[in-house]
Amino acid sequence: GSNLRDLICGANIEIPIIDGNHVRGINFDNAATTPAFQSVINEVMNFAPLYSSIHRGMGYKSQLSSNLYEQARFIIANFVSADLYHKTVIFTNNTTHAINKLSYSLLNNIKDGIILTTQMEHHSNDLPWRGKYKVDFVSVDDEGNLSLEDLESKLSQYGGLVKLVAVTGASNVTGIVNPIHTIATMAHKYGSKILVDGAQLVPHSKVDMKPVDSPEHIDYLVFSSHKMYAPFGTGILIGWKDTFEAGDPDYVGGGTVEIVTPDYVRWDHAPFREEAGSPNIFGVVALIAAIKTLNSLDIESIHYYEQQLTSYAQNNIKNLPDVTIYGHQQFKENRVAIVPFNVEGIHHETLSKILSYEVGIAVRSGCFCAHPYVQKLLKVTPEEIEEHIKNRHSLIPGMVRLSFGLYNTIEEIDFFTEILYKIIKNKAHYIQKYST
Ligand code: PMP
Repeated sequence: GSNLRDLICGANIEIPIIDGNHVRGINFDNAATTPAFQSVINEVMNFAPLYSSIHRGMGYKSQLSSNLYEQARFIIANFVSADLYHKTVIFTNNTTHAINKLSYSLLNNIKDGIILTTQMEHHSNDLPWRGKYKVDFVSVDDEGNLSLEDLESKLSQYGGLVKLVAVTGASNVTGIVNPIHTIATMAHKYGSKILVDGAQLVPHSKVDMKPVDSPEHIDYLVFSSHKMYAPFGTGILIGWKDTFEAGDPDYVGGGTVEIVTPDYVRWDHAPFREEAGSPNIFGVVALIAAIKTLNSLDIESIHYYEQQLTSYAQNNIKNLPDVTIYGHQQFKENRVAIVPFNVEGIHHETLSKILSYEVGIAVRSGCFCAHPYVQKLLKVTPEEIEEHIKNRHSLIPGMVRLSFGLYNTIEEIDFFTEILYKIIKNKAHYIQKYST
């Protein structure tokens, strides 16, 4: 734990709290965004005097930038075992952009198909499918596990019309990890392809897209660099080259074409036709530096360590009075480093405010861009949902989420548990203090 902290920029930062003192901040909000590795910051600083527009010039700097940018596709493919003979690595702004792009590109291939997504998705793997396609949602049980029975029955009921199963690798609400290779096998059996939203999985667990002739293989994978110790602005979309060779790209302009005349356009091949405008070479350099550090630490070891943090935190807080923890991992895959909970009698937003202002612990609260899933876990009734839809200012139900990164420590969890216990014991005092 403690030497891992040295890898992170700002892990030991002092922050002011409500009584005017400074404390060492604790970040338990890594599912939203991780801080950067120091190696990433160093690499970006080293690269700062050298950057230049890519694919555009014969100058030394332009060639250097172009080479780094193109090599990055191989490093990324290698990181998740993608087959670059059949697949392409497209740089996007983030996971959301990647899924929107895929949704647009698939229109050329599967216009009349059905997309199966699930009740446990982040809005980014739900809303981009709505409107364009007929969409159905695979159900989850009361504890938040995806129902493979419902998946199988929907696949068979639609009789080959399902063209894509769009599923999260790990939930950003419960950390539940889906058995993606089992799901891939089921999807392929019914002639469907699979997209894995890897935003929460890739930073915490080894992801292997597997050879394209394996039934377990992952057709499309997306993830974001700002959740894997590099800054914002870079997302990855890996998928079949063919998918991006038909029709027009979603977003067009410089860099997307082979030839343009006043009345003729021939699009370039993927990935170039999907990356309009001057690309974010800084973001790519940062992501590659993060991948190098993740590889050197060994992603399996990271998973093991974070697993220990997660079960330690669960065991610590589940025995505190008035605490409910959500999400139960049913499948053999372990959950990633997330613990969602509520304390009876304290609104989730108030609790996260108390933790931040009193002791400098950052957590997330609310619905985590996954309203349907949170509603399900909290057993919100249809009448209550109706009420929230009608009354914009009603207090929407939610929860508090702890999410760990590889640099968090058992000592931080001990401190958190102590503080949470103190807050629960003195509920009335804190609610009063923060009730405005
Ligand atoms: N999917 C999941 C599971 C996520 O956790 C997130 C980020 N919270 C996203 C998609 C969207 O990622 P981004 O904001 O980088 O587009």
